[in-house]
Amino acid sequence: MTSRNMILVLLAGFPILFTAQGASAYDWYECRSNKQTWDSNNVTFRPSSVSFPSGSAWRTSVEAMRTAWNTAPGTQFDFAYSYSSSSTYSTDDDTNSILITNTYNYNGALAVARLSFKWCLWPFWGGKLKEADVLFNPAYSWENSVNPTFPPNPWSPYNSTLVGIHELGHAFGLGHEDDEMATMNSIYPNSGSLGQDNDLVPHGDDVHGNRAGYGTSGTARDLYASTYLRSSAGNSRYITAPSTLYRSPTSFQFSMGNRGTLNETSVGVKFYLSTDRNITSSDYLVGSAGFSMDQGATVTRTVSITASSSIPAGTYFFGWIVDPENYIAEADEGNNSVALTSPTVLVNQTPPNACFTQSTSNGSPPLTVFFNAACSSDPDGSIVSYTWDMGDGTIRSGSSFSHTYWNSGFYTIQLTVRDNHNLTGTKFSWVEVHGGCEEWIVPTTGGGAASKEASTGNAALPCQPL
Ligand SMILES: [Zn+2]
Repeated sequence: MTSRNMILVLLAGFPILFTAQGASAYDWYECRSNKQTWDSNNVTFRPSSVSFPSGSAWRTSVEAMRTAWNTAPGTQFDFAYSYSSSSTYSTDDDTNSILITNTYNYNGALAVARLSFKWCLWPFWGGKLKEADVLFNPAYSWENSVNPTFPPNPWSPYNSTLVGIHELGHAFGLGHEDDEMATMNSIYPNSGSLGQDNDLVPHGDDVHGNRAGYGTSGTARDLYASTYLRSSAGNSRYITAPSTLYRSPTSFQFSMGNRGTLNETSVGVKFYLSTDRNITSSDYLVGSAGFSMDQGATVTRTVSITASSSIPAGTYFFGWIVDPENYIAEADEGNNSVALTSPTVLVNQTPPNACFTQSTSNGSPPLTVFFNAACSSDPDGSIVSYTWDMGDGTIRSGSSFSHTYWNSGFYTIQLTVRDNHNLTGTKFSWVEVHGGCEEWIVPTTGGGAASKEASTGNAALPCQPL
């Protein structure tokens, strides 16, 4: 039978141009709006026992790839394996091969899934999947861990389990998903691992996509925490922690997701500072929040925390636990906590708060405004300097003064206060100077604007429209 072939590649570290996908989520190849699935929910693949010898680390990794999909919450599709002694493959032999081979031009890809579909003549052939071959590129350096000790990074060696889960996603019909966090993202490390054991499993969006193609089996709930964020289309990176944490509100980013079959309407999250990357409820609690998360969602959010004086200064990892009270019975309770990969140094000093008032924020030129920074403060010391960028090219100092804006315009004022620990705080404000003329002529004689105004007997300033 005639087939058309599609080659799906996973690239190492550089972007690939693919047609932009819908704003929502997982992407399927479609035949007249019908998802191009296999005809069956159980498809046999034939991994090569030459590439993946029994007892080898590669064998363990290849097994973990299919287990990751076969045990995904609420899914019905299963990969069956029947190991083959062959070390070659053919793209049109109706055998679904999985192997490491150098007889393919990868064009820089880590691995490829070569798919064959039946002709798209819905409803006659329906464009269903006909064959899928998954090939790994031996030109790269691979490591085969199933639960790596650290989240996979974008550099060599590449994790075969993570790449294999991605390729098996193609092998049952998913395309690249670059709009949301997903294992089907087109660039390694995709969206990384889940939880503090660095589980290599498909993300919420991928599992949701599987269920969309092959149906949902029962109810399964699974929330997870992740240290990655989506940095650009199809690309992800570790969330970075602020390097210094003062005794004042500081923003941290965190990610979490929902692999389950339900839209969760009430998900609690607690935030901690821990001396190691293993987060437990006995670490220093620094905040909590609640969220709703639809099935398939992965979100990155920001929380502002303040480290109280009861937490000693030192080096900490910021972490969080999703559903910390275990209100939600989950298929996997082991992926709910995680800590950022980079540490934060908590110090005892607190930066000053910049604050000022101004007598007015708009008027006609010349507009004289009185600025007063007496409301600025420093909780653990004193303010030693005030520096003002007046927005008109003038830099001023001092805690209070009057400043005149001679020309119409929109001025941004920035006050920077510095304390005795050499920490700074800033505050912005604005002044808008309007008028019917473009320029105010500064009187050169006669005592300035006030006397000129008086001499004309006109309360309005005597500027002429141009
Ligand atoms: Zn791919």
